[in-house]
Order: sequence, then C-alpha cells, then structure tokens
Amino acid sequence: MQGFFDTKIEFLKGVGPQKAALLNKELNIFTYGDLLQHYPFRYEDRTKFHTVRELNGTMPYVQIKGRIRNIETAGPPRKRRLKAYLRDETGEIELVWFKGVQWVLQKLQPGVEYMVFGKPTAFGSKLNIAHPEIELLTHQNEDVSYLHPIYHTTERLKKKYLDSKAISKLQRTLLQLAEHRIRETLPQKLIADYRLLSKKEALFGVHFPQNTELLQKASFRLKFEELFYVQLRLLKLKLARVDKFKGQIFQDTELLTRFYNEHLPFDLTDAQKRVIKEIYHDMKSGKQMNRLLQGDVGSGKTIVAFICMLLAVGSGTQGVMMAPTEILATQHYQGLKEYADSMGITIALLTGSTKKSERRIIHEYLKSGDLNIIVGTHALLEDVVQFKKLGLAVVDEQHRFGVAQRSKLWQKNRDVYPHVLVMTATPIPRTLAMTLYGDLDISVIDQLPAGRKPIKTVHRYDSNRLRVNGFIKEQIDEGRQVYIVYPLIEESEKLDLKHLMDGYESICRSFPDIPVSVVHGKMKPDAKDYEMQRFVKAETKIMVATTVIEVGVNVPNASVMVIENAERFGLAQLHQLRGRVGRGADQSYCILISDYKLSKEGRVRLETMVRTNNGFEIADTDLQLRGPGDLTGTQQSGVLDLLIADLGKDGKILQVARGAAIGLLDADPDLSHPDNRNIRSQIESMRKTAVNWSRIS
Ligand code: ADP
Ligand code: MG
Repeated sequence: MQGFFDTKIEFLKGVGPQKAALLNKELNIFTYGDLLQHYPFRYEDRTKFHTVRELNGTMPYVQIKGRIRNIETAGPPRKRRLKAYLRDETGEIELVWFKGVQWVLQKLQPGVEYMVFGKPTAFGSKLNIAHPEIELLTHQNEDVSYLHPIYHTTERLKKKYLDSKAISKLQRTLLQLAEHRIRETLPQKLIADYRLLSKKEALFGVHFPQNTELLQKASFRLKFEELFYVQLRLLKLKLARVDKFKGQIFQDTELLTRFYNEHLPFDLTDAQKRVIKEIYHDMKSGKQMNRLLQGDVGSGKTIVAFICMLLAVGSGTQGVMMAPTEILATQHYQGLKEYADSMGITIALLTGSTKKSERRIIHEYLKSGDLNIIVGTHALLEDVVQFKKLGLAVVDEQHRFGVAQRSKLWQKNRDVYPHVLVMTATPIPRTLAMTLYGDLDISVIDQLPAGRKPIKTVHRYDSNRLRVNGFIKEQIDEGRQVYIVYPLIEESEKLDLKHLMDGYESICRSFPDIPVSVVHGKMKPDAKDYEMQRFVKAETKIMVATTVIEVGVNVPNASVMVIENAERFGLAQLHQLRGRVGRGADQSYCILISDYKLSKEGRVRLETMVRTNNGFEIADTDLQLRGPGDLTGTQQSGVLDLLIADLGKDGKILQVARGAAIGLLDADPDLSHPDNRNIRSQIESMRKTAVNWSRIS
C-alpha cells in the first residue's frame, strides 16, 4: 500500500521524465505522495455566477456567463486591442485583450454562450474585464462549478505548461488512481472526538472542494493532522527524557535565604517570583529540568538565573551560563559577578579571547570544583572543559544555538544530566514556542520591574532631521546619552557602511562640541571594544553604530535610541534595539526615522512599534507579517517545514492538536494500544521520508 504513494511522479499520466525532472527541481515533488501534499494555496470561487448588473470595480475575481454581442479591434497593428461585449439578461460588459489578440479573435464566436472569469475594473462609470479566462459554456462545466484550486507553480514550470490548471488536472488523475489506496492516518477515536473528515475525504476536499464548508473541514482535518504529529513528536521526546533522565535533587536553600535577606538589591517582581518558584520546583523534583524562560528585554532574567544558580551551588554543584556572543557573555558575567562576589561565590569568564594561561587555570578549577560558576561562549563546549559536578546549565539562546549544541552542554555531566534553563529575550508567540520548544516546559516573565517608564516611540521622516537633532541636543544637555543606529546587511554592506560613515560625519558636524563614538562590524575587536568602553564610561555622548549593539552594551544612562532607515529593520530587531534604552530611571525615547516612501509592511512595522512596547504583541504581529520561518533562524527551521498549517493563523488548531496529543499520550504513553496502530505506522512512514524526526532529537 505504502509503495503506491512512493511511485515516482514521472509515471503519472501526463507527466513523463522531462516534467518530472522539473517538478523535482522546482517544487520538490518526487513521488505521488509529494504531489498529493502539494496543496492549493488559495481558491477562486467558481461556485456561483454573478450577473453583469451586480458587478462593480471593488469586486475581486468574479465569474459570469453570457453571449458575445460584438467583437472589435482598435489601435495600430502592433498595439492592437481587442474588445468584445458580453451580454446577459441584466446588462453588458466590455472584455478587453491587449495581448494574444489574434488568438482570441480566432476563438471567440458571437452569439455563443461563454463562461467568463476575471477581475472587473472601473473606468469612470464604465466597467471592463481585462484578459479574462473565457470558455464555452457547456452543461458539463456549468454543473461541476466548484471552488477553483490555485497551486503554487514557477515560471519554469509554466513554460513547460505546468501552470496551476495543469497541476490541478494532475491532482485529479492521481486522486482517481489513489482513491482506494488512501489509508487513514489518525485513529478512529480522534476522528470521532474531533469530528474530523476521513483522510480520503480531506484530500479530495482540499484539492476539489465542492463548497466552502467542505473546504474548511478538509483543511482543518489536514492542518490538525500535521500539527498533531509535530506535537506528538515533541511530547514523546519530552516523555522519553523524563523517563530516561533522572534529575539531581537540590534541597539546600541556605544560600538563597542569605541572598534574599542580605544582598537582594531590589524587590523581585511577582513574575520573577513566580518563575523562580517554577524552576525551583523542577530542580527539587527528581526529574531533569528542561525549561524555557521567556522574558522581554529588561524583564530581569539575569537575577532569576543567578538565584537558580544559588540552589545548584548551595547543593554542592556548579552552574554554567552560555551566551551566543562574546559581548553578551561578558555582560552576563559582569551582572552575575556582582551578585556572586557579594555571596563569596567564585565565578569566571571563558570566551574565545581568554588568555591561554588563564584558560588553563579555569579548566583546572572547574574540574576541581573550586570554581562555582562559569560564564562564557561556545568555548565552553570544548571537550577540555570538564566539571566536577555540573548542576545547572543556563543557555541564553536567542535562537542562536541549535538543539544539538544545547545537548552538548548536558553531556558535560556523565552520570546525571544537569538541569537546563534556556533563556530567550526574543518573545516568541505562544503558538510558535509550543512548536519550536514543545519539548520544553515554558516559564514567562511577563512584567517589567516597577518604576520603569515605558519608552516613548515616535516615527519621523528624513525631513524632520533638524528637529530630531534639536531633541538629541536637549537630552545630552540634560546629561543623557544617545544611540544612533544604521542598518547593515550583507547584500548591501559597502553602501550601508558608507551611509553609516556619512551619518557619523554629519553628526560630528551637527554637534561639533560633543564627543561621538562610532562602532561597526568591520572594525577590529579591540578598536570596537575601546569605542564601546568610551561610551559606557560616558566619555562619548553619542554612539553611532550598526546593529552590533543589538545584543550588547548595557548603558542605563542612554535614553535615546535613534534608528535610521528604520523601515529596513525587522520587527524583532527594532524591538531588541529599542530595549537598549529605558534601562535607567529617566524617560527614554525611541525615534524611528524613515523615508516618506514605505512599503505596506514597512509601515505596519513602524506603526506597531509606535503603538506598543509589549514584546509579545510585537512578536505576534511579526509572525503574521512574515510567517514563522524568518523568526527562528535556520537551525530550527527543520521543525517548521509545515505543508498546510500556518503558525501565524492556525494557533487555535495547534492548541487543539496539542491537547489531543497530550490526551493520547496520557492514555497510551508508548502508543502500543491497537487503536493507535495508525499512529505507529504513520510515524514510521514519516521517519522514512522526513529528516525532521531525527534532526531535532
Ligand atoms: P534581561 O536580561 O531580562 O533583559 P536584566 O536581567 O539585564 O534583563 O535586567 C535589566 C535591569 O533591570 C538590570 O539593571 C537589573 O538589575 C534590573 N532589575 C532586574 N529585576 C529588577 C527588579 N525586580 N526591580 C528593579 N530592577 C530590576
Ligand atoms: Mg539579559
């Protein structure tokens, strides 16, 4: 049975070797099964005919029927236009062609009834339809009117006559062949509980929907199935880990009590207290913790991490914190060191640029247990880095580490894996987190420390520059510091760098008495560092930079973030950049500068930034604008090769599917019950075809 869907696509009637090669290359379609899973991405409503009188210029594509009354051509030979008038019982509309005139002319016959499909456009009070699809009306095509599926295709495919219509025809051929071979891929109980269509009905329904209700049901069924299997896989991973991996049990809270009573620098927010409780619960439970800690920029994750380290260190183990960049690692180290010193806990920093001699000592002290906490970059993953007993690994991930790297950290402890806390500052919409990190438990710090003034964000155009400069001057006169950030992307690196340097010079001219720093990715690390330090020490008042500061410096005295060409940044990046200010007690500002000309999406991004400071709201908008692929970086994208579901839109279905997967695993953790046979064989066949299953474990 399975074999049939593995049949090479070239053997399908109407394909052949040449087209097959193109389908392989352009759409990744290799087999019958692949073609069936090449779902339409939208539909045109061909279920009903409009009358000519109903039409107006605001309508999308419409279908009408009528007879051609008159055909005429106009214009010079090379620019000949063809006009035909289609009449039904309610009126008449002009159809017009600018290309292929000769061909249409041969085909059209006056007096015969046609069906016509196209977009009505208004010219003054007149309507016409340019380049409509037109077909003789026969009893056959009048009866089989349905929602017309539109398939993704490419220019090269179209050249070989594989347009959407042709793909649709292939689907029909294939479905007829396959009809009796489509087997159910979900258990009957789920189908009954969630009132799903059968797999066969769903496949027919999604490729050839008779009506919108059926289409909706068919696509629900397929999306549900897709998301169900993603969730099942993640939940099974989690189960396997919980079973397999015992966790170290930490009990000793003496350090914690002392820190709370004597050294806690401020009251924790309720959200911080809640997540600490969640984490402590895990670390005392006897199961290995794998938890994602989400918290917006400035929400205070560092101290949470430290307090968790206290439990590990207090119980006689060590803690490690890994960050994706040297700047970030250094900053974490500085933050943690202050707390650690107050408690007499030993801590060190290990990065690529740690000196060899120092490195050797660190390695030694880690192994002997003299070092309680180590902070660093990838350098921590090297084999020479050995712990006496690693209790807690904190990974500041920001999508930069892959799952594989994460698990490399675990293995630093031979007998028992350490507890793992993954921190991310990029708020991930819940739906996405559930898919990407569905194998982790999730804690969220959804509250900023009290007394923070929300950052005021405005959007200004290039022409407002003088006023912006005036404002910058005022802020500096009040003792504040200012960031001015320029975009720099690889594709236009040279030009971007020039913009940055031009900007730098113009700033120096506009503020002749004010010391200005400039930092960009092309500078040598020590030159960069030197400039950064000057700004940190407030020797310079303005920092002109590329996004290198995105994950970097913490300068509470900086109160203004100016972002040049703001329309070129993604939402997540804008939000990260804005998070660089608003760290002190002063009112902070973010000024987004753009050209007057903005794409629709660019405008939505800037409006979103002006409207809200809430990272989760921004992440949701981002997900809707861009789809999930871009949000996640490449390392995890394998998890997100979804064929039909859309995480931006199908959050609800995801919830339902996850619920179903949880329920199922509760009742039958190893999927051995006969009722779940379908699931086992489906997982088996997915394992064969998709790399995904192995990629994430
Ligand atoms: P994150 O890493 O989540 O972006 P940080 O841990 O760097 O945030 O904290 C940002 C700033 O807020 C730091 O200066 C920190 O000392 C301070 N902070 C953290 N928690 C609190 C709190 N509960 N009350 C006041 N200030 C806090
Ligand atoms: Mg931080």
